[in-house]
Amino acid sequence: MSYTIEGRTGTWEIVVGLEVHAQIISHSKLFSGAATTFGSDPNTQVSLVDAAFPGMLPVLNHECVAQAIRTGLGLKAQINLHSRFDRKNYFYADLPQGYQISQFEHPIVGKGAISIELQNGDVREIGITRLHIEQDAGKLLHDQDPTKSFVDLNRSGVALMEIVSEPDIREPEEAGAYLRKLRQILRYLGTCDGNMEEGSMRADVNVSVRKAGEDFRTRCEIKNVNSIRFVMQAIEVEAARQVEIWENGGEVDQETRLFDPGRGETRTMRSKEDAHDYRYFPDPDLLPLVLEQAWVDELAANLPELPDDKRARFQAEYGIAFYDAGVLVAEQAVADYYEAVARGRDGKLAATWVMGELFAALNRTSNTIETSPVSAAALGKMLDLIADKTINGKIAKEVFEDMVETGESPEAIVEKKGLRQVTDTGAIDAAIAAVLAKHPDKLEEYRSGKDKLFGFFVGQVMKETKGKANPAMVNDALKAQLDA
Ligand code: ADP
Ligand code: MG
Repeated sequence: MSYTIEGRTGTWEIVVGLEVHAQIISHSKLFSGAATTFGSDPNTQVSLVDAAFPGMLPVLNHECVAQAIRTGLGLKAQINLHSRFDRKNYFYADLPQGYQISQFEHPIVGKGAISIELQNGDVREIGITRLHIEQDAGKLLHDQDPTKSFVDLNRSGVALMEIVSEPDIREPEEAGAYLRKLRQILRYLGTCDGNMEEGSMRADVNVSVRKAGEDFRTRCEIKNVNSIRFVMQAIEVEAARQVEIWENGGEVDQETRLFDPGRGETRTMRSKEDAHDYRYFPDPDLLPLVLEQAWVDELAANLPELPDDKRARFQAEYGIAFYDAGVLVAEQAVADYYEAVARGRDGKLAATWVMGELFAALNRTSNTIETSPVSAAALGKMLDLIADKTINGKIAKEVFEDMVETGESPEAIVEKKGLRQVTDTGAIDAAIAAVLAKHPDKLEEYRSGKDKLFGFFVGQVMKETKGKANPAMVNDALKAQLDA
């Protein structure tokens, strides 16, 4: 175990399980036809169902169910053909129904797993306990008026997936890797945009500590953490707090806590003694959810290629390293770009250019792959010019910079600037002769045994040809002349 806390009484290990709420991508809400667009004016996307008017009945959104199944399949999880909706009863001003429709005993998705990769290259499996579908609540606005609070019901009834992990996570880094991987899978599947700043993905972080070999101890749950960095920080400070309590002879109370990133501490929100007072019962307005295997199979057949599979295929098909393949599949759009460049070309060279010059240029010009000033087709064309020896690798960098700046094609730039590689043996020989004439002393030294000067001559000849000579030909011709 790499991450532990050294206390006065011995070594402690951290135990973490994450409950992630992921907003399902769908045009309308889970049980109503209201829209789900982020950032709309308050209460403009609220149907009578979402506002819980008397007599309104929920109608299940078929697409939301499909999205949950796709996600389950992407998590290599059990899809339960029979599941059920339950009411989770509680009172809060942002919840007009007085209950949230969720799935308690019979979730739509059962056990699955996510494999994560750590900095040191270790790969670990983190178990998924379940995934269920539920409604989101509204939002209270406390900062609009000095004496009143308002409620915005736009989010009320929006479809969420709650994805629960096993308590398999042992350190902050693993929690971060798990969330990044989960987000990547959701984005590939197109089932959640994973945007934590907009709240479409948020995590409840369950933390406990124990001595090696012990059973699990009492956990605390840190609610609604909205960035991966904060999740990692929250685990660290919460674990330290619990170690302190145990070592001072106290008991950790099971409770719900909040993470305050400003102060770097967690604080009590409510004690969890009332946790089982939700009075769950099957929602009488909804039939049990029964899926046909044929539909699940059809969704499975139409699943996109997932990041782990794509990574393995990139390694095999394009001969690139595990690490590089991981970088290239991190985002679907980058993977598509890379593949458009690499297909039918030298995959390793394509990877070098995409991860090197292209990423640097995107960074420098504040672009993303989607707004790249150089298209995959144009970069591919440039690699073709290297392959057919129209330009050498060094000149290619100059051509590429020009492509970034002007958006012109590599062929046009080569012509415009006269960058065509010199492969004419006569011209190369002439350049060599000029260099040798300029450096008789160096020639003398070389011939009397100072072999290292060969590199110097190559450099001078390249300079003489303004970098345009074919380096392999310069090498051969130079050898021939020097050793003559
Ligand atoms: P609840 O629904 O009351 O939050 P669950 O049993 O569903 O409780 O567990 C919720 C989360 O807590 C899961 O992600 C699980 O992995 C995690 N968990 C359970 N026991 C522990 C523990 N002792 N330490 C840390 N995490 C835990
Ligand atoms: Mg919980």
